[in-house]
Amino acid sequence: MSQLLAGKNALILGVANKWSIAYAIAHAYVREGARVLLTYQSERQKQTVEELGAELGVARVLPCDVTQEAEVSALVEQIRTGCGTLDAMVHSIAFANKEDLSRPFVETPREGFLLAHDVSAYSLVALSRAVAPLMTAGGSIMTLSYLASVRVMPNYNVMGVAKASLEACVRYLASDLGPQNIRVNAISAGPVKTASARAVKDFSKMLEGAAAHGPLRRATDPAEVADTAVFLASTLGRGVTGNVVYVDAGFQIMGV
Ligand code: NAD
Repeated sequence: MSQLLAGKNALILGVANKWSIAYAIAHAYVREGARVLLTYQSERQKQTVEELGAELGVARVLPCDVTQEAEVSALVEQIRTGCGTLDAMVHSIAFANKEDLSRPFVETPREGFLLAHDVSAYSLVALSRAVAPLMTAGGSIMTLSYLASVRVMPNYNVMGVAKASLEACVRYLASDLGPQNIRVNAISAGPVKTASARAVKDFSKMLEGAAAHGPLRRATDPAEVADTAVFLASTLGRGVTGNVVYVDAGFQIMGV
């Protein structure tokens, strides 16, 4: 079968280690022939992401803390001079203070609320605005969401509220950028054991519950999330925008 992303330039933000969902996506994008650019959040992650990038054979590894406007601008400038145009961007980034993912939601302090929304939702807006001019032949932007945006999940708290904001951002961005043939979607993944997920109190119970009770009776495999990310970036996904695509072994349809 021919490669689905041959000739496409793709920026993937959110690889921290090999368990990151973004890592699975990078792996699939390289397999499908994309020229992949990765970012790392801070110096602490630089070496790991560079090593993973070298193993995968990505084109470049660049710094970007999404809360820093200057770093977002510098990233886009480096992409402009390095490859000129961009076809896809994967936003696989979220953060909330750990204590806000264990105590009751009603106790969320203002600064924790703002931080979760800044990193997990606003960053998609800032990045989309920054990369859109590079998507001269149209493009595909996607982010990672979770069912806690529309259902109350134990301990997900402010992150669930930030995911609701993120999904609304997807719809408004899709509307704004559609005339430039830039599509914007979210992939709502089922629970996957990653560093971020481990910050949620009792995450393992959530994962086991979803695997036991979802239609497919198994956990979500990051590789199947990655294959949906391939579809969305490819011409196969050309009619899909403003959507939340569930890749969760079907768990979202269940009542109890
Ligand atoms: P992860 O910890 O591997 O990835 C989170 C990434 O966010 C890390 O690479 C981290 O460096 C990055 N990040 C945090 N703050 C940042 C900042 N200020 N600037 C730049 N990068 C920053 O965990 P993951 O589970 O792969 O998470 C990726 C995405 O998938 C998140 O949006 C998460 O909410 C979402 N998601 C995860 C699950 C799950 O169960 N793991 C399920 C559904 C959705």
